[in-house]
Amino acid sequence: MKITAVKGFNDILPEDSPKWQFIEKIARNTFHSYGFSEIRIPIVEKTEVFARSIGEATDIVEKEMYSFPDRNDLSLTLRPEGTAVVVRSFVQNAIYAKKPVNKLYYFGPMFRYERPQKGRYRQFHQIGAEIFGAAEPMADAEIMSMIMRFFTEVGLTGLSLQINSLGCDECRKVYKEKLVEYLTGHKENICDNCTRRLKKNPLRFLDCKAASCNELKTNAPSILDSICGACADHFKSVKNYLDALNTPYEINDQMVRGLDYYSRTTFEVTTNMLGAQNAVAAGGRYDKLCEMFSGPKTPAIGFALGVERLILLLDTSKDYERKTKLFIAALGQEARDFSFKLINQLRAKNISCEMTYSDNSLKSQMRRAGKNESQHVLIIGEDEMKSGSAIIRDMSTKEQTSFSLDDITNKIMEYCS
Ligand code: ATP
Ligand code: MG
Repeated sequence: MKITAVKGFNDILPEDSPKWQFIEKIARNTFHSYGFSEIRIPIVEKTEVFARSIGEATDIVEKEMYSFPDRNDLSLTLRPEGTAVVVRSFVQNAIYAKKPVNKLYYFGPMFRYERPQKGRYRQFHQIGAEIFGAAEPMADAEIMSMIMRFFTEVGLTGLSLQINSLGCDECRKVYKEKLVEYLTGHKENICDNCTRRLKKNPLRFLDCKAASCNELKTNAPSILDSICGACADHFKSVKNYLDALNTPYEINDQMVRGLDYYSRTTFEVTTNMLGAQNAVAAGGRYDKLCEMFSGPKTPAIGFALGVERLILLLDTSKDYERKTKLFIAALGQEARDFSFKLINQLRAKNISCEMTYSDNSLKSQMRRAGKNESQHVLIIGEDEMKSGSAIIRDMSTKEQTSFSLDDITNKIMEYCS
């Protein structure tokens, strides 16, 4: 019987991996230019890392976590997101003591038990970044501007940066009351899920996709009318700094994030090309999270972007693959022995090259060069070995040049570069 992969867990095949490498490279370059360093965090954590921080009445904790007891009955969870893990590590390793402001980024798989569909999988990948130790609105604007710069570098346009402020605990208390009052007045129209969440987490109503709830949102009170003076000032500065950085944004006062730990600024980057899976990246400020992990009070802000969704948006006409530069078609034992050593020298000089393992016909070797999409083919047969020269063919122009075999490594390097 054939064994297949677990539902919602995907292979990233060789023809697709160049896109992943392209994205990772741009992320690294962009994030490094903003002073971020990489942190590599475990995939499995104690369940409490997420249960405690993300919030009990959230989709992730209520129904999406892959949790299991290990052989010693310790409850473990495959990480559903990165921020809580980074915070756990930040506190555990006293990263806060190293510098007043720490900027960290991570790459890697996340796991959520969701219904697999286009842009939604059970193992998916996020690239995330966090700034620790900055409460100032400049940090909010900088990180949002960085993510938009990253999307530009990747070649994506038509994305919208949506921003909102959830205020502080005080503002949210005021807002929750207003929202509960509004929703209680329309009890008969809200969905079962929201009725259940009304007490625990009424803000989730704004995130609800049920048609009846959607209609009610139009006249729902806005959180931006409930935020206190200090939170309003913060939000105003964030907008001013975004303007200063020429980063366009839209205010979306109905955007609440699926995680409980956010305060003040929250944001999402959305596309209109992926149907319901319209969020490519999301993040926000989480000034209280470090304390929840028994760390020192450390204001922080971060985001995570979904790599699979980003890949679905990439320009498919662009060539992301790094091709084999040179293929050596070698015929006859003497030429093959010579070529085997030659490719070794070229590879040591970072020229990507290939030859066949078996002494196939020239036609078959040329076909292989075609499959490899090699840019150049060096043809060396018995006659060439005798005459001390070889032919190099540019596969796109079909132009052929003859080379003497003396000093061939340097000549090829010059030709191929
Ligand atoms: P959604 O509303 O689409 O479920 P979310 O609010 O649960 O998204 P976050 O927890 O904020 O998502 O994660 C940040 C990003 O990770 C999302 O914007 C999305 O691009 C990506 N993402 C989240 N869940 C999945 C998934 N199951 N499969 C693929 N990508 C995902
Ligand atoms: Mg989700």
